[in-house]
Amino acid sequence: MAKIEFKNIRHAYPAPPGQPTVYALEEINQIWEDGGAYALLGPSGCGKTTLLNIISGLLIPSEGSVYFDGKDMTSLPTTERHIAQVFQFPVVYDTMSVYDNLAFPLRNRNVPENKIKERVHAIAEMLELTDSLKNRASGLTADGKQKISLGRGLVREDVKVIMFDEPLTVIDPHLKWLLRSKLKELHQQLRVTMIYVTHDQTEALTFADQVVVMYEGKVVQVGTPVDLFMSPQHTFVGNFIGSPGMNVLPGEIKNGQVSYHSHVIELTQNYDKIPEGKTEIGVRPEFIRFDSSGFPVNLERVEDLGRYQIATVKHAEDMIKILVPEEQEIPSENPRIVFDPEKTHLYRNNWMVE
Ligand code: ADP
Ligand code: MG
Repeated sequence: MAKIEFKNIRHAYPAPPGQPTVYALEEINQIWEDGGAYALLGPSGCGKTTLLNIISGLLIPSEGSVYFDGKDMTSLPTTERHIAQVFQFPVVYDTMSVYDNLAFPLRNRNVPENKIKERVHAIAEMLELTDSLKNRASGLTADGKQKISLGRGLVREDVKVIMFDEPLTVIDPHLKWLLRSKLKELHQQLRVTMIYVTHDQTEALTFADQVVVMYEGKVVQVGTPVDLFMSPQHTFVGNFIGSPGMNVLPGEIKNGQVSYHSHVIELTQNYDKIPEGKTEIGVRPEFIRFDSSGFPVNLERVEDLGRYQIATVKHAEDMIKILVPEEQEIPSENPRIVFDPEKTHLYRNNWMVE
């Protein structure tokens, strides 16, 4: 098992002739603890796979170093890193049985057959594949094949890190939930460092203890699901996490007070020491309520989602989303709203102001 450390990592793929260099990863400095369950979360193209490949050794970064337990791994070949990687699409040998597929990584490493038997049965048990061990892999559904891929990642005892790159893409929605909880359970049993890459916040938040949010080649925040929800360090995190995401509204700091279109916004945190001027006010739909003490808005529409409703209101040119519990009434005349003073944050150039 390993602690992973990135020091001043940057990576640029070779640019076409005449084109400027573009960094797919910009300056990554991170320490990921031994035995942690990490999720790398971010939209397509933000650099997740690039970072994974730097860890596994499929890619050598243009700058900086990667350490496992303090040992520089940056230019070591994949085979010497003790890493298992599960890819987006299943890698399965169709002509082999399920058993032989699971045994493959162990036979490759000359593990004795009795040991192989023990490991394969243990992993098959965890993944509920015991009944199909004798079957040929070719007969399996996409889900079944991906379970084998997962199993092959988990079967080795010599791995320090297991990485999953969007492993549930081909899995049926109802099975996704099941496999996700399974992986979480496996992490608790095995305590090996796991890195799970996804663009899906639900997958990241259910799997990981620590979620690493990436945006345009940068790590913008590392935190627990609660951290990301309660105090997004960047407006991107506020928007990307949560459904709907955080409202970001234009504000102004003056005389130690924050205003939104001339309405003073009450905040718990003291912003006396912050230079005056423009700011962005970030407030989640969960932390706004209708209240006659607030500022006036126009009610644009209400969506009823069963357990709660989402109201969209307008003030000046801004659309503001509000999450309203099912049993609460939305005023139809002269609606006014207030922000929860404790849970409203200020941003400048998209980064939180403290
Ligand atoms: P993600 O996995 O988050 O979708 P990637 O790490 O695959 O993102 O890609 C990050 C950026 O690097 C993207 O802009 C992508 O187009 C670019 N990129 C990825 N692989 C290559 C490559 N082999 N050659 C050139 N550019 C690449
Ligand atoms: Mg990718």
